[in-house]
Amino acid sequence: MKFTELNLSESLLKAVADMGFTEPSPIQKEAIPLALQGKDIVGMAQTGTGKTAAFAIPSLEKINEKSKNPQVLVLCPTRELALQVSEEFEKLAKYKKIRVVTLYGGDPIDRQIRALKAGVQVVVGTPGRIIDHLERGTFQTEHIHTVVLDEADEMLDMGFREDIEAILEEMPFERQTLLFSATMSKPILAIVQKFQNEPQIVKVIRNELTAENIEQLFYEIKATAKLEVMCRLIDFYNLQQVIVFCNTKKKSDEVALELLERGYKTEAIHGDLSQRQREKVMKQFREGAINILVATDVAARGIDVSGVDAVFNYDIPLDPEYYVHRIGRTGRAGKSGKAFTFVVGREFFRLREIQDFTKKQIKRGVVPSIEDLI
Ligand code: ADP
Ligand code: MG
Repeated sequence: MKFTELNLSESLLKAVADMGFTEPSPIQKEAIPLALQGKDIVGMAQTGTGKTAAFAIPSLEKINEKSKNPQVLVLCPTRELALQVSEEFEKLAKYKKIRVVTLYGGDPIDRQIRALKAGVQVVVGTPGRIIDHLERGTFQTEHIHTVVLDEADEMLDMGFREDIEAILEEMPFERQTLLFSATMSKPILAIVQKFQNEPQIVKVIRNELTAENIEQLFYEIKATAKLEVMCRLIDFYNLQQVIVFCNTKKKSDEVALELLERGYKTEAIHGDLSQRQREKVMKQFREGAINILVATDVAARGIDVSGVDAVFNYDIPLDPEYYVHRIGRTGRAGKSGKAFTFVVGREFFRLREIQDFTKKQIKRGVVPSIEDLI
């Protein structure tokens, strides 16, 4: 199936082609036609399956370019995700006269207010800051016709339930509500029942854009050997864009420092960094000024960098679901990727839990010897 079969406007087809997309992903194939018909949707698919375009394309088709009022609202769990979603909207709207604003905490509110005043059709933001604008009366909602809850499971995990409900209460009753999530849960169902109108459930179980392209290996090693083994793997595979996961902020700082000492271009990214610092680090990582990002789970949520060639579980995740989120940072958009997991003897049960959860065997990797590296 091609994008041309989805009855999209010329401007969108051109933008999609410029982005290098040749065919719609499974979730896009199913969700776009339903959303274009005006239906409410619950879209479920793992990370990296193209959920953003699945809601951005139909949302953009519904926008009246002549009106400068907010018409589409997208709620995202984190600032990084909000920025990524805005970027994707802007790329898709390349041949349309559509303005997008991103509203998130930590960014000067005056600038956001000026942007809203100047006229925008798409508002993307995190729940807290959206509420702030609603309370100040700086975000006019009467022309909103589409509301998207992106990564709904993550938003609820992060404690945004009340904020989301308060925001949805403020939106016009006649509207389309699209909800996307990697997983389903009771709190999500509660929101679906309360705020959606006969939603169509679109579920893509097999993740064709990711998991299959990720080579998953584990290394049973001593805790003290982790750094050495990781450096050998990075060198052996000549990895250029790597995300290393640690279970704590402290550990991620330590590992980043040790990598720096060994001459790798590295930064740690976690919740203690200011918004500006985080954005700067992400930009450097995308542009290749940094090769290794050492992250905690929270900091890495939703990060979409398309060229990540490997993920290291430096610390094995405490929850199998985190494993799926972590390795989903690589192997995106049909590219291949590697996921290396370090297991210290007593943690073996965690590896078993992960394999039970993912229904996939993780193979034992062989540590490259020094001779392999020269
Ligand atoms: P999700 O929200 O499901 O985690 P994203 O929307 O962030 O996934 O998409 C993951 C990556 O795949 C992005 O880099 C995006 O540009 C790319 N992508 C999306 N749709 C397609 C497509 N139809 N063909 C190729 N790449 C795509
Ligand atoms: Mg997404």
